[in-house]
Amino acid sequence: MSNNKLEGKVAIITGGASGIGKATACLFAEHGARVVIADIQDELGQQVAASIGSQKCSYIHCDVTDEEQVKGMVEWTVQNHGQLDIMFSNAGIIRSNKGTTSNSNQNILHLDLAPFDHLFAVNARGMAACVKHAARSMVEKRVRGSIICTASICASCGGEHDVDYFMSKHAVLGLVRSASKQLGMHGIRVNSVSPYVVATPLICNLTGMKAEEAEKFYEGRTLLKGVVVKEKHVADAVLFLASEDSEVVSGHDMPNRGFLLIQNELGK
Ligand code: NAD
Repeated sequence: MSNNKLEGKVAIITGGASGIGKATACLFAEHGARVVIADIQDELGQQVAASIGSQKCSYIHCDVTDEEQVKGMVEWTVQNHGQLDIMFSNAGIIRSNKGTTSNSNQNILHLDLAPFDHLFAVNARGMAACVKHAARSMVEKRVRGSIICTASICASCGGEHDVDYFMSKHAVLGLVRSASKQLGMHGIRVNSVSPYVVATPLICNLTGMKAEEAEKFYEGRTLLKGVVVKEKHVADAVLFLASEDSEVVSGHDMPNRGFLLIQNELGK
């Protein structure tokens, strides 16, 4: 298998300081891309960029809820690297505590609308802002780019709680399906990945489990016996969608899902 699938390409990865974004940044750099990690965890993001190496990777602060920052992130990338070829819009949260002290599990009967708004600002509106500004830059520079968004298994079913999270991930699929139709005429592809549970800080903070504990807990709940879904499995799917291996794929969701009953156990 070629190790240079992204030679000469420039990529932005939002939420690249941790979890799935971090694993994808490492894989993209291994495949020859110059990677810009964007996040709100500055120290962590700078550490990840330094560990990949300053020739291949840099860090920029960007809160995706702020459109000016998103625009600035794309402009900075183009100024420093000439163009933007790949946008991996991945930053996301599973439960917000902004503006609330209720500790609600976001079951519909107890839905707290302040954290709902913040979660949507990150997971849905923030994702749309990243797609918008990446696409505008690609159209302007006539780049036949690839945009990938992180949805979730929660994008195609309902949940026992976290109504806002499930809704926001359904919105990501709506974004991908619409943007792919609108950008196809410019040669820009838009797809999503829908991971199953991966024991990242997002899941560990929600469940209170350590990564090894969470992996053990979720192992055996996947379709493939004995398989633990890791960050690198999602990164492989993102690499496929970013590279020319998927040059005729647009408007698709690539699920990496296991046994759907898992939702009953999330967040206990
Ligand atoms: P993570 O917490 O390890 O990483 C998420 C990153 O996003 C963090 O570095 C965080 O600082 C960043 N972020 C949060 N809010 C931000 C903002 N406003 N602006 C910029 N960056 C922000 O979690 P992860 O599991 O790697 O999550 C990545 C994506 O994968 C999310 O969209 C999540 O919903 C999705 N996802 C995760 C799983 C899973 O099981 N881990 C499953 C399905 C989907």
